[in-house]
Amino acid sequence: MGWTITLGRVAGTEIKVHLTFFILVVFWGMAGYQQGGPSGAVAACLMLFALFACVLLHEFGHILMAGRFGVRTPDVILLPIGGVARLERIPDEPRQELLIALAGPAVTLAIVVVLYALLALGGVTPRLGGLDPGGPFLETLMRVNFFLLVFNLFPAFPMDGGRVLRALLASRMGLASGTRIAARFGQASAVVAGLFALSTGLPLLALVSLFVFLGAGAEAAAVETRVAGEGLTASQMMVTHFRTIPIHATLAEAVELLLSGEQREFPVVDNTGRVEGILTRDNIIKGISQRGPSSTVGEAMTTQVPAVSPQLGFQEALERLRSSGVPALPVMDEAGRLVGLLTLDNITDLLLVRRART
Ligand SMILES: [Zn+2]
Repeated sequence: MGWTITLGRVAGTEIKVHLTFFILVVFWGMAGYQQGGPSGAVAACLMLFALFACVLLHEFGHILMAGRFGVRTPDVILLPIGGVARLERIPDEPRQELLIALAGPAVTLAIVVVLYALLALGGVTPRLGGLDPGGPFLETLMRVNFFLLVFNLFPAFPMDGGRVLRALLASRMGLASGTRIAARFGQASAVVAGLFALSTGLPLLALVSLFVFLGAGAEAAAVETRVAGEGLTASQMMVTHFRTIPIHATLAEAVELLLSGEQREFPVVDNTGRVEGILTRDNIIKGISQRGPSSTVGEAMTTQVPAVSPQLGFQEALERLRSSGVPALPVMDEAGRLVGLLTLDNITDLLLVRRART
């Protein structure tokens, strides 16, 4: 996810903040200012940072529980609607995901109970309802945590309730279908909440609904891709019928090759058959407009293209292709021979077919 700043690293997990989190800081600070002037604004921001710490503790509930099942968490992102700990994978058993999803709310519940006990010992009878940024510090912190607890158990991604729902569904119908249904349910709930927010003039709730809607869609798409590609290697994902083009060929020849078939990207080879780069359709068009059709493929091609080994796993191969910035990567065996071409189009087709079968 873009738009984030990294704050630091704890126990192998990077702590990141999404920039929209600061909308909440501003909103909260302004609410404090309206109630108590500058000191009210400072108090409200201190409250937010205390809350921030509580959210992190909640996230580390998930992270530590995930660690017990051997699932690492590369990063945790703080969003205006709370934190999202991005687990490296979904645990194999739905029961494990259920426990991981519940570990965060369990921490938040513990925070609420501790704060409640502290307040009760201090002779205050705390109320759980109402959100008032200018209220007494501990009581407000407890209320916000209670609100977060309830909100987090809402059964929609990316909230924990969504994961609980998915785990319960997945134990009956498998991960892909469970995720799909949980995501649809979450998106439908977000649309209802968003319409309600717009009709009653609650901008923050509308923003939250938007996040829930996007989060549910992203989660469903990521899981579907992962499930559909499970167990595949680059050798099963690559195109094996393709044309190469010699590095000394002219762009006019490249155009002929481009127009004669479906292939859009061509591995560029030298006299010995070694791959020197990839010639994309964009390379051809740009090369022709800048240097003319009689210039060579070598001048127009994209160089420094990472090669993929046929044994590379699905997720790694997909990530390498996406991060390379070119639409196709050469697949090379150990002897350095070109054995295939990895293209996003082909992977998309392959996943569609695999998905249709399940
Ligand atoms: Zn959580």
